[in-house]
Order: sequence, then C-alpha cells, then structure tokens
Amino acid sequence: MKKVPFVTLEKAKEITAQIPTPFHLYDEKGIRENCRRLYEAFSWNPGFKEYFAVKANPNPFLIRILGEYGCGCDCSSMTELMLAETIGAKGDDIMFSSNDTPVEEFKKAAELGAIINLDDITHIDIVEKALGKLPKKMSCRYNPGGYFEVSNGIMDNPGDAKYGMTTSQIFEAFRIMKEKGVEEFGIHAFLVSNTVTNDYYPMLARVLFELAVRIKAKTGVKISFINLSGGIGIPYRPDEHGNDIDIIGSRVHEVYDEVLGAAGMGDVSLCTEMGRFMMGPYGGLVTTAINEKHIYKEYIGVDACAANLMRPAMYGAYHHITVLGKENAICDHVYDVTGALCENNDKFAIDRILPKISMGDLLFIHDTGAHGFSMGYNYNGKLRSAEVLLKEDGSFKLIRRAETPSDYFATFDCFDEFSFKF
Ligand SMILES: *Cc1c(COP(=O)(O)O)cnc(C)c1O
Repeated sequence: MKKVPFVTLEKAKEITAQIPTPFHLYDEKGIRENCRRLYEAFSWNPGFKEYFAVKANPNPFLIRILGEYGCGCDCSSMTELMLAETIGAKGDDIMFSSNDTPVEEFKKAAELGAIINLDDITHIDIVEKALGKLPKKMSCRYNPGGYFEVSNGIMDNPGDAKYGMTTSQIFEAFRIMKEKGVEEFGIHAFLVSNTVTNDYYPMLARVLFELAVRIKAKTGVKISFINLSGGIGIPYRPDEHGNDIDIIGSRVHEVYDEVLGAAGMGDVSLCTEMGRFMMGPYGGLVTTAINEKHIYKEYIGVDACAANLMRPAMYGAYHHITVLGKENAICDHVYDVTGALCENNDKFAIDRILPKISMGDLLFIHDTGAHGFSMGYNYNGKLRSAEVLLKEDGSFKLIRRAETPSDYFATFDCFDEFSFKF
C-alpha cells in the first residue's frame, strides 16, 4: 500500500516557519481513530483495557489523548511511573511490567496502587519484604520457553529471552501468592515483537487461556485478567499489509469462548500493553535536506540523525521516506539519506529510490510515533528534537521543546569549577 504522509508540504512549511526541523510530528486524528477501533474490536470483553507502553512514546500530551478512551499506562521504570503519576494515572490505570526491578520501583508502584506484574518468582519475597505484605491484586509474567511461531513464519525464541517465569514456576508462584493473601490474579506474556499478521494475538491468547484453565485446576487460583501485552506490529514497508484489529479482536473472541467459556471462565477480562500499534504510524520525523555529496555513492545529508531515530542504525529497520511536495514525482534517483553522527550506520535509508532531492526539501520519515523519539540519545552532543502535535482541526501545538545546550550541560552544573553560561 502506498504510504502517504499525514501532513502536506504546505502545512509542514507553516509549522517549520515557527518550529525549526528536525522534529517528530504526531497525528491526533490518526491516534484517536485507531484507539477507537481497538476498543470496538474488543468491546465484546467486559473490562477490556489497553495499557499504553509508555516506553514507546513517553509524551504526556499523547498519553492523555489515549486516556480519554480509557487507556492506562504500562510502565517499567521509576521515571515512567512518575510520568504516569504526573498525568493523574493511579491504581488500576497503571500496569507495572518491569524486569530486573530495583526494589524502590516496586515501592513506588505500590504507592500508586499500580498492578504489579512480576517477572520472576524470586520477586514475591522481595515485594513482600519491601511492602510488608503483598498487594491484593497481582500478575505474573509467563515464558513458555522453546520457540513460538506464527503462521507467516515470524518467530521468536522465548527460551532465549530473559523475561517471565517457567511453566512450573508460574504454578508455584500462584500457589504462594494465594497463600500469602493475594486475592486477584492475572497472567501476562510477550512472546514476539512487531508481528504483521493477524495470527499473533489469537495464538498467544490460546496459550494464556489454556494456562489460566490449568492454573485453576492445579492451584485453585482463579485468574481474573489476562494481559496479551504488546507485539502487534505495523507495516513499515509499503509492500506489507497492516494488521486488522477487528479481525484480531473477533478471532481472540472465538478462542476465548472455546477455551475460557467452555471452562466456565467466561468472565476473565483482557488487557493489552501495546506501544507500536497505538502510536507508530501516527508519528513522522520531519527533517530538512542540508547537504548533498557525490562520491562513490549519492548522499543526502539531513538535519536529523540516529540520535533522533535510532531504529535504522540499531536494527537496520526500514522507515519509509517521502519528500514532501514530491509525493507524485518520478522516483529516478538512488540515495543514501544520512545524519551527521560520526558513525557510518547513521543512515535513515540506504540505496533508496526517491525523487530528485534539492537542498532545503523537507523529508518526512514515516512511522516514528513509537520507539522513535523515546530511543533518542545524546551521542556526538546531538540534542533531542522537539515534538509537535498536528491537531484534528489542522492547527498544531508544540508538545515538547527541543533540548538546548544548557540541557546537555545540566548534569555538570553541580560542579563549581565549570561555569557554563548559556
Ligand atoms: C515494549 C513492551 C510493550 C510494547 O511493545 P510494542 O511492541 O511496542 O507493542 C509492552 N509490554 C512490555 C512489557 C514491553 O516491554
């Protein structure tokens, strides 16, 4: 499917007249429509709730939009918990799904009333000691081990992953937790990332639903919520087909009736912890072509770099690029599109076929709404960019300012011998 930016050249120019590139731009309309579709797809399940994976895009303005539809926050660090607190989330609105967890974070999660999703059986004791007693409502993360394969060949290897408890541990964990007074129980698993197939959730659901039935039979513990976590992907490439959340919802429904319904457990509520699916396609990195270089290859240098969007450098990930205003121009040039880092992997695209790019052209790098800004870093002294929300009515709003050099130097300002003034 042809990938079309959610912003026109004209609108982008209006924004860049006030906010210099590079910046991540977000599409409020797209975020809202997608979130509504998700809740409709799971409306058959009473209690369904999406906990937005804060790590995918920790911008409070965006998370607040999702909150209007009932989404909570999935946090996995102290500052993510603090961020959830800042936007007013508490209690069941926060899922704390972390691993290798410092004890202070368990304390903070408990203070906010978050649902603590334990990654390991040893954490039962740690949490009990830290809090005096276990919270009334808790969840455990499951790792079935081995390989997990979805029909189109996308596969992952949970047996090699650091997350979750083994099958025998999870039975034991629920037995202990019940004995120690926990009253409400949930299970969680995240087995494959970025799946572009409608099969992943239904297949994962079957694993977790069957596990819930076995847990009840073996331990007497009645699971009341099941967390399908993240992993629903998006089509980064034009030739990929996106997931159909309606189909996914109704196929999970079928498995639910077949496994849980048949076992007399038809009142289990479901939740998800999606990041990428909720935000990925509704963000784009807007950057200006500032240099061109003709050596053994043709290079276009832009004013953004891997510090603003790490996925291409880190995973070799594909991000589609549109030259704004040249959406329908003939693509007859082959470019590497690069940033300025002194790292040869700082390339947004390699051998990409694009229209002729002129200096000053605005490039729209697609699908940066999740794991885009949030993976940013300061290597080479590069500063994090601004974030801008393109609102439904066509107006725009700065929702995070760009870093300035004084942000970069802020961690030295406690030393008298340096007196940076900016
Ligand atoms: C990263 C993560 C998610 C979100 O994953 P997506 O692929 O972005 O949907 C959800 N839950 C946990 C525990 C995670 O670590």
